[in-house]
Amino acid sequence: MKYSIIIPVYNEELVVRETYSRLKTVMEQVDGPYELLFVNDGSRDATIEILKELALSDRHVKYLDFSRNFGHQIAITAGMDHAAGAAIVIIDADLQDPPELILDMIEKWKEGYEVVYAKRTKRNGESFFKKQTAKAFYRILRASTDIDIPLDTGDFRLIDRKVCDQLKGMKEQSRFVRGLVSWVGFKQTAIEYERDERMAGETKYPLKKMLKFSMDGMTSFSYKPLKLASLLGMMLSAASALAILIVLYQRFFTETTIPGWSSLLLTMLFFNGVMLIMLGVIGEYIGRIYDEAKDRPLYIVRDSHQSEHENEFVTR
Ligand code: UDP
Ligand code: MG
Repeated sequence: MKYSIIIPVYNEELVVRETYSRLKTVMEQVDGPYELLFVNDGSRDATIEILKELALSDRHVKYLDFSRNFGHQIAITAGMDHAAGAAIVIIDADLQDPPELILDMIEKWKEGYEVVYAKRTKRNGESFFKKQTAKAFYRILRASTDIDIPLDTGDFRLIDRKVCDQLKGMKEQSRFVRGLVSWVGFKQTAIEYERDERMAGETKYPLKKMLKFSMDGMTSFSYKPLKLASLLGMMLSAASALAILIVLYQRFFTETTIPGWSSLLLTMLFFNGVMLIMLGVIGEYIGRIYDEAKDRPLYIVRDSHQSEHENEFVTR
């Protein structure tokens, strides 16, 4: 097998056929055998029926069917675990990432690059809120980690077999795949593109998933939030030491009695808020440590269709 295309799908019945035919057209132009590996992430619509149909009519189509929705990043991981190709491409199912770009990626791969990621110069048809939060997220993440995570880059990329094998060895639960790919290193390069509008259907990343995703990214690759807690703690202690001195001075050396009820209450409320936020930050990390300690499988495959390793139900 030379090329594996991994396509995570979650409730994509409106687009999956079109995605298949666009990918097919592109992959017919490449030199060598390929597979289109769909990972059905617990869709509740007719996605899986369509995949089964496609798999029957085209031997290039393979699929994994999850027992429930495990999330986009886990679906990609499962795809990597099962991909057989020498070069592996990850692409969204909604045609926001143009399949035609795969040809350019393959060119770069042949030049010797082991990771070719696609950088978005522009995002069409997405809400102002999504664009701005995404933009801010990539910049904050970049500022708070030591590894070089490229800006405005999604999971649309080509990786070499070597990179894929390294990623398969990393079994962390809170997965932030694009960070992991940066972390492993190798020879990386970018190609630029304008991100299209979703072909049909709605985004499968509501705010809740976006929040989890960004927290996973932050906590997996940065201790900065924890350091922020101690930094803030130190600054506040210094400020209160000063305040204590002032209060003591007033108590013993002046006649001013402080009416002070409201200022007292305000400072208490404020510092309690800060303390709870910081506890929450620590909690985010501890929760993730707990997840790792439980050591559950990352995903469960109900059913799969793969010619290479038929009946193989690898979950980790
Ligand atoms: N997806 C998935 N599981 C999920 C959410 C999304 O497999 O829980 C897939 C989805 O089908 C799509 C890709 O991940 O192929 C990206 O999702 P989407 O296009 O909705 O995200 P957006 O582009 O809006 O950020
Ligand atoms: Mg999309």
